[in-house]
Amino acid sequence: MSDPAAINSTVNSPLRQYPLERTRNFGICAHIDAGKTTTTERILFYTGLIHKIGDVDDGNTVTDWMEQEKERGITITSAAVTSFWNQKKDEGLYKNFEGIPHRINIIDTPGHVDFTAEVERSMRVLDGAVAVFCGVAGVQPQSETVWRQATKYKVPRIAFVNKMDRTGANFDNALADMRKKLGAYAFPIFLNIGAEEKFAGVIDVVNQKAIIWGEGDLTNEGLKYEVTEIPAAHKDRAEAALAELIDAVSNKDDLIAELILEEKPISVPVLKAAIRRLTCLIELVPVLCGTAFKKKGVQVLIDAVIDYLPSPLDIPPAQGMVPDTEESVAVPPDDNSKFCSLAFKLWTDPYAGKLVFFRVYSGQLKKGDSIYNPRTRKRERVSRLMVIQGSERKDVDSVYSGDIAALVGLRNITTGDTLCNEDFDIALEPPTFPEPVISMAIEPKTKADQDKMSQGLQRLAEEDPTFKCFTNEETGQLIIAGMGELHLEIIRDRLKREFSVEADAGAPQIAYRETITKSAEGEGKFIRQSGGRGQYGHAVVDVEPNEKGKGVEILNKVVGGTIPKEYIPAVMNGIAEAIKSGVYAGFQVIDIKVTVKDGSFHEVDSNELAFKMAGIFALKDAFAQAGPILLEPIMKVEATTPDEYQGDILGDINRRRGMIQGVDAKNGQTVLTAQVPLAEMFGYATAIRSLSKGRASYSMEPLHFEQVPNSVLTTVMDAAKKRPAARS
Ligand code: GDP
Repeated sequence: MSDPAAINSTVNSPLRQYPLERTRNFGICAHIDAGKTTTTERILFYTGLIHKIGDVDDGNTVTDWMEQEKERGITITSAAVTSFWNQKKDEGLYKNFEGIPHRINIIDTPGHVDFTAEVERSMRVLDGAVAVFCGVAGVQPQSETVWRQATKYKVPRIAFVNKMDRTGANFDNALADMRKKLGAYAFPIFLNIGAEEKFAGVIDVVNQKAIIWGEGDLTNEGLKYEVTEIPAAHKDRAEAALAELIDAVSNKDDLIAELILEEKPISVPVLKAAIRRLTCLIELVPVLCGTAFKKKGVQVLIDAVIDYLPSPLDIPPAQGMVPDTEESVAVPPDDNSKFCSLAFKLWTDPYAGKLVFFRVYSGQLKKGDSIYNPRTRKRERVSRLMVIQGSERKDVDSVYSGDIAALVGLRNITTGDTLCNEDFDIALEPPTFPEPVISMAIEPKTKADQDKMSQGLQRLAEEDPTFKCFTNEETGQLIIAGMGELHLEIIRDRLKREFSVEADAGAPQIAYRETITKSAEGEGKFIRQSGGRGQYGHAVVDVEPNEKGKGVEILNKVVGGTIPKEYIPAVMNGIAEAIKSGVYAGFQVIDIKVTVKDGSFHEVDSNELAFKMAGIFALKDAFAQAGPILLEPIMKVEATTPDEYQGDILGDINRRRGMIQGVDAKNGQTVLTAQVPLAEMFGYATAIRSLSKGRASYSMEPLHFEQVPNSVLTTVMDAAKKRPAARS
């Protein structure tokens, strides 16, 4: 299929089958219901990777059909699916690519856009995106959020106005909406011919041709299309669109501007190359339309992905960090440099088991090679590599820069880990994950589901490093903790969908933290003399505040055997336990350094338990004298609103103890950034919606912990005492 001789770029290995220039890693971003799933499915259908369904000639039974349906679902929701596309050369529309197909990797983007970490990671591994809009609803509030995230993470985009067949579909309105609400420099490269039930095809603006799809059995073969002259009724519109497109491009592209100035003709390849340049620079958004459901416009969309979205070579290189020096390093795509990749998704495939999806940024990896994980400082051998290719799980021997593939059977990797060569020790993502800021108690609706729920939660925690799950020692309740209310809601939803466990949850609780403000010494004794053999443990400790973010350190500096060596671990365990369950108000202690320095023992009565208790008491004693304070999670909140609601939204943030950090105008909208205590953010989704008639949107992420001000301390402490169940 391939012709290695054609792969002559200096960054490509001669062994790879698909040159980097012919690779497209892209995601489909959309408002829920705009048609992300259908569009993905149709792309896989047209690229030949999903087989025809219900084809009687194949002798398919109903069960087969159902199996296939299930299989399709699994494929489409997989973290990344690989497919191949040959641009047709016989239709005179697109240039011939010398017979090497394009490799397209469709990367799943999170359905919920509020998770900064997950959104950021998926946005980082894709090089471009297709933004799907509903032809009837146009730009919906959530499409604005998705769009802004793509802008924030610098993802080049093309837009697909879907559902052109639906009653009320209107391409011009959707386009106007995109320009007005998103501030997009958006121009049609394909215009609609007809709409609603009369939607027949599209006008190829660049080539000034019409593309008409035939009607056919939708469940069977893909629809064929015919390239014709533009029908007379659409001629003026097509010409105006081309003039507008050239004008728009010339405003931003010097080459086209020059050609116009010199009154030279602009050929199709020259114009397409300019559109591609601007799209890759995120200066222009080419707009297409169609109906994924009716299979019209999809082939053209895949061509546009190839024509206009960047290959890994067309975007700035990924940035990594040297763990010790925090120096920034660029990781440009090059098969011949050292291996560096990012594990972006853990996924459990019903057939292949646990998969770690990763994106290679540089170098290559072969089966049998070792990979190094800077977070765990461990090396692991790669025994199996795989790509999900339609309904097939295909084993591959090697992967190259720019590739997306899956590792099979590796256990100690978590989402966000960098996997690299041992002598190329850099981290693509910060190695620590934010501490959970909210928690709730959870229990299955039916007792019989207890084990299933625990297993499900454990697996979800493995996949998502920002989600934690543990048992509250005092109450025996299972506690889930994460980045926000919505995060935990989605965990419950996934438990239901993926593990068939319905769960009840308690009210969400803020995960406060405790720490100290000065150094102190403390002593703990656990001495019992009750006839027979007694108990004797005695420890002395120093505590001091640790640097912010450095966590907890417990050191042993006992000299001269005042506490015998064999009991030191027991003392330390006691301290660790007290730190976990809190001293001041029952919340986990952070950023503290504890040094065990002295104690005493009894020849007969000393034992592990007594020393563990002595450790707990000593820590509590020292803590009480060290100026303990309560810390609350502060969220970074970013709200985007049409200007007219700005005043109300600012006022509301002030009332929530928020500190405004910035008010910026962006694309006709106001972007407010603020730091707000999480405790004040309950119900914010509803509040902002009602303040802005649904037009404003927001995102928030944990920023850091800050001391709870005295004005609210008593309320927080009282509430904490009343609700011990969900402390973390
Ligand atoms: P997602 O939530 O974005 O993944 O959206 P889906 O692909 O699941 O589509 C949502 C609904 O819209 C489904 O009922 C689809 O059948 C329907 N749908 C998707 N594309 C089209 C289209 O082009 N035309 C029409 N009429 N319906 C569509």
